Amino acid sequence: MKAMDDLAPPDTTPRDTTTPTPGALASLIGLSRAELAAEVAPIGIEGYRVRQLWHWLYHRGATDFRAMTSLAKPFRLALAERYSLDRPAIARAQTSIDGTRKWLLRFTDGQEAEAVHIPEEERGTLCVSSQVGCTLTCRFCHTGTQRLVRNLSVGEIVGQLLLARDAVGEWEAPQSERQITNVVLMGMGEPLYNYDNVAAALHIIMDNEGIAISRRRITLSTAGVVPMIRRAGAEIGVNLAISLHAVTDALRDRLVPLNKKYPIAELMAACRDYPGLSNARRITFEYVMLKGVNDAPADALALVRLLAGMPAKVNLIPFNPWPGAPFECSSGNAIQRFGDIMAAEGYASPIRAPRGRDILAACGQLKSESVKGRPSAAPAAPTA
Ligand code: SAH
Repeated sequence: MKAMDDLAPPDTTPRDTTTPTPGALASLIGLSRAELAAEVAPIGIEGYRVRQLWHWLYHRGATDFRAMTSLAKPFRLALAERYSLDRPAIARAQTSIDGTRKWLLRFTDGQEAEAVHIPEEERGTLCVSSQVGCTLTCRFCHTGTQRLVRNLSVGEIVGQLLLARDAVGEWEAPQSERQITNVVLMGMGEPLYNYDNVAAALHIIMDNEGIAISRRRITLSTAGVVPMIRRAGAEIGVNLAISLHAVTDALRDRLVPLNKKYPIAELMAACRDYPGLSNARRITFEYVMLKGVNDAPADALALVRLLAGMPAKVNLIPFNPWPGAPFECSSGNAIQRFGDIMAAEGYASPIRAPRGRDILAACGQLKSESVKGRPSAAPAAPTA
């Protein structure tokens, strides 16, 4: 068992890695409580000891079994012989002038995805990826230009939280001092196309005796996989965000091709049925502001009609450019006018300040160099 580095390596030089090391130890990260119990029962760790182990993994953030002093030494040794607590490797760490941090993560098979930490006055949000690449091909999204490589595993999703907590150094920090108070599934990929792993990861992240981020502070964002919205509502119960971006099927078909499968009316019906909605718990509709495409006052009015009667809020997202993007961001005036119309109709519509644009960490700018079928990872090209 080797001790892990707690912090991002200071150099930003991509390391040459890695196909899984032959004989590498299996990771304990990502098992549910029941799976963990079944896994370690053969070495005699049972009952309250499983609970202690869980506490070490997800409350204390242990990276070394030797540190688990509440477990008897033979147990610690047995665990260290068999398992690892490794987080995803950090292939590159960048910090924006606004304090946003982006990590390019490299998994044991060499594939890469990004996670972003956005510190704010009153909270700090970790934006987590659910897939390497994406199948959706939304026209305005950089990730959409990258084909789906694969789903992330439960451990790889949870690992993003662990790694971020390591990096900001806040294991066991009291809630009031946390820098990572919120989680958004708004990184690379469509979380509802990796439903099982995302659901399992969120259950670990929400567990009260571990990372303990409440469902009220977690938001799952989807381009609109209608059948899975219903399941997520029943089984996970986190906040829901919908990447809407257009108010007619003709335009949405073009911007978010998934709309051809699940058109706006079906999507809205699933939203209305989402459990637990109230004025205190509203669905967020994300609306990227594209110059001359979806930013007219008539669009704002149509949006109001679409949302009528639903506890909803709208996030107006100024389009974040990326190399070769086929759109421009709406003018400040157009965005303001759009927001004013929404506000006059009673919809809070904060204009989301872009964060981390200089390091391509803002919404829709994430992309890794991972390619399908590549036997081992080539060094990542700089993304900013
Ligand atoms: N697949 C999920 C999760 C990604 S969330 C989803 O579509 O919701 C990322 C958010 O950023 C989505 O709302 C997406 O539509 C938005 N986005 C994508 N590209 C963008 C860009 N270039 N500028 C601003 N927002 C963008």
